[in-house]
Amino acid sequence: MSLKDNIARVQERIVAACGRAGRRPEDVKLIAISKTVPAESIREACEAGLRDFGENRIQEAQAKRPALSDLTVTWHLVGHLQPNKAKPARELFHWFHALDSVRLAERLEHVAVGTGERLPVLLEVNLGQEPAKAGVRGDEVRNLAEEVGRFPTLDLRGLMTLPPFFDDPEQVRPYFRRLRELAEAIAAARLPGVSMRELSMGMSQDFEVAIEEGATMVRIGTAIFGPR
Ligand SMILES: *Cc1c(COP(=O)(O)O)cnc(C)c1O
Repeated sequence: MSLKDNIARVQERIVAACGRAGRRPEDVKLIAISKTVPAESIREACEAGLRDFGENRIQEAQAKRPALSDLTVTWHLVGHLQPNKAKPARELFHWFHALDSVRLAERLEHVAVGTGERLPVLLEVNLGQEPAKAGVRGDEVRNLAEEVGRFPTLDLRGLMTLPPFFDDPEQVRPYFRRLRELAEAIAAARLPGVSMRELSMGMSQDFEVAIEEGATMVRIGTAIFGPR
């Protein structure tokens, strides 16, 4: 299968999942996760119509980006960020999906004070409470939302999760549902500066279930670019 076929197939599956859930396909953004993928393949995916790409490492993004500077695409940082990389992160990316501490929010704010720029951010929630994964616990996310809502250069848009891995995507469904319920509860609190419109959840293995549970952004690597 070519890259173009893979993309078409993923798009069909998104449309079908939206159909099952009574949702509109235009309300689900496909983010192609291009970590470890060479710049030429990203260009090819862009030529096939994709406009959103996600990476998880600052250094890798810095290395690949010069070869892609002519493309008009939206870049998403989907992985954990060290506070000392806040400046390059803001320079290289248009969205940040993995905000998980006030300290990191302070760094991201500090490097952009006075620029007038606002970075759309999502809070990463570690729903499985897995020690090896980043993210705040479900019972901490409301407090973090309240704090992040106070930073003028950060535009809080919703939540993101990377749930525990299961072979059967049905077993992930409760985690996706939980993320949606958390977002709904925080939205109902009407905190200043806080929007909970976006749910970044679902990867190659389980994106259809995530869409059925309300994902507005799916992050797909392997099903587009092949195994890493
Ligand atoms: C790698 C990665 C993905 C994509 O995973 P696939 O299983 O290849 O689709 C999604 N989200 C994050 C945060 C990732 O690091």
